[in-house]
Amino acid sequence: MDDKERNDNTPVNGGGDNPDKKEYEDVCFICRRPESKAGRMFHLPNHICICDDCMHKTMDAVSQYDYQGMLNNPALMNMLNSQFDKQTHPAAQDGEKETGEKEEQEQEEKEKEKEGSGPQRGFPNISFINLADFMNDGIPKKQKLRKKSSGEKPKPILDLKSIPAPHKIKEQLDQYVIGQEYAKKVISVAVYNHYKRVATGTMDEIEIEKSNILMIGPTGSGKTYLVKTLARLLDVPLAIADATSLTEAGYIGDDIESVVSKLLAAADNDVDKAEQGIIFIDEIDKIARKQNTTSRDVSGESVQQGMLKLLEGAPVEVPVGANSKNAMVPLATVNTKNILFICGGAFPDLEEIIKQRLRKKTSIGFDAELKDRWDKEKNILSQVKVEDLRTFGMIPEFLGRLPVICTLEGLTKEMLVRILKEPKNAILKQYQKLLELDEVKLEFSDDALEVIAEKAMEKDTGARALRSIIEDFMLDIMYEIPKDDNIGRVTITGDYIRGTGGPLIDIRGNGYTLEDMDRMKEIPAKESPQA
Ligand code: ADP
Repeated sequence: MDDKERNDNTPVNGGGDNPDKKEYEDVCFICRRPESKAGRMFHLPNHICICDDCMHKTMDAVSQYDYQGMLNNPALMNMLNSQFDKQTHPAAQDGEKETGEKEEQEQEEKEKEKEGSGPQRGFPNISFINLADFMNDGIPKKQKLRKKSSGEKPKPILDLKSIPAPHKIKEQLDQYVIGQEYAKKVISVAVYNHYKRVATGTMDEIEIEKSNILMIGPTGSGKTYLVKTLARLLDVPLAIADATSLTEAGYIGDDIESVVSKLLAAADNDVDKAEQGIIFIDEIDKIARKQNTTSRDVSGESVQQGMLKLLEGAPVEVPVGANSKNAMVPLATVNTKNILFICGGAFPDLEEIIKQRLRKKTSIGFDAELKDRWDKEKNILSQVKVEDLRTFGMIPEFLGRLPVICTLEGLTKEMLVRILKEPKNAILKQYQKLLELDEVKLEFSDDALEVIAEKAMEKDTGARALRSIIEDFMLDIMYEIPKDDNIGRVTITGDYIRGTGGPLIDIRGNGYTLEDMDRMKEIPAKESPQA
């Protein structure tokens, strides 16, 4: 079949019989996007290709089209409707209707139309098939909004009785997040107050202000993890956005409102639900005012300015299912009044700014202290003040809208060891579970855990380094173990991680259980292959 023939005879998608063989990409006739961007194309006669999105939109437009005022012509619509009724309820149509009755019906219809519930728009008994529904891949992003419950006030996600008390929230966080006691406490209280505020609306005319949070802590110290865990525990929608990609509207990058779009998507396009969710904006330090720049700061100070309105709480028009507004994207109005914003960042160099401030304060007068006193202080970040953040490049209006500031500590070796084994979904537990399915017991010696933690400290990326280190050496174990059914237990030792020895392998068999073998410690491991 030649190309022309195929295009002319294949009205429905699937025209690309063998897309790999084609030299040129098809381009959508409407939006001009190539196949690689727009996905599979519908091939229409005369070599016209239309992408899935445009076809979808065209079909939607066609089904709502009012053909030459046909829908406003009650007589015609009545005729069509009665035809439709006759087909669906033949029994009810017995006998001719009297003219008076007809007029009554018309009157009723008109009234209904006035109320907004008039006759269905579109053709009765005719519905347009959306070809895109037949395609499994390339389905466009969900751009349909869930209907708002009309009239009633939106129900709070957490009502006053179901909001867990701060100590309960912290208790639950403790099961997942190791250390960071101060941050967990601050967040538990802030979240508790926030949802109390949402549940009550206003309290005796005293409006409780929003308690947006600014989280400061080194990379890999658990900022994102803390917020994710919190949203899961409270079962509220959460959106995690990155401030680095945000730019002032009209410039290349994501619009500021796109963070709310993400939340809307997380809430299943349900505006009421999204309006009570949490938005976490990571890398907030990247939108600090740029120093020594003469050009317009579209990704720094302007973004801070643009975020003021969101943080404070205002109705904003957000694109549904897209990152920026354009003619092809539907918009929804979301009020950010009850959305909790949590901003997080590592704020490098902030420590130096804090130290400078502290030094200035203590270097004059009777209380003068040694200059290097603050250099030795370990947890200097916890002494942060708003003025330090201003020096860093955050504008005062922005900081004013983030009244709760909490700091996270850098992770110590002991904390890393605990992170390895204690959380409910600890990495070690995950591997143990995996091997358990092969009926193999996986154990780690204390020495091994310390070596892993030391290695992670060297990488300076916090707890994030742990996984990469473990994945590295577990690869061999996961590859070798399933080969031999007799292996009953593997013990990872410090030597194995240092690369100076192998793991201890205990062989099942001879009728001994692992417990028996524990009792007979004098029996040496039969096999300990080098990794
Ligand atoms: P960041 O502070 O850079 O946002 P993340 O929260 O993304 O760091 O942390 C990366 C990973 O490290 C998390 O997925 C989590 O598994 C682990 N982690 C970090 N800090 C902790 C902690 N305090 N307790 C338990 N796990 C942690």
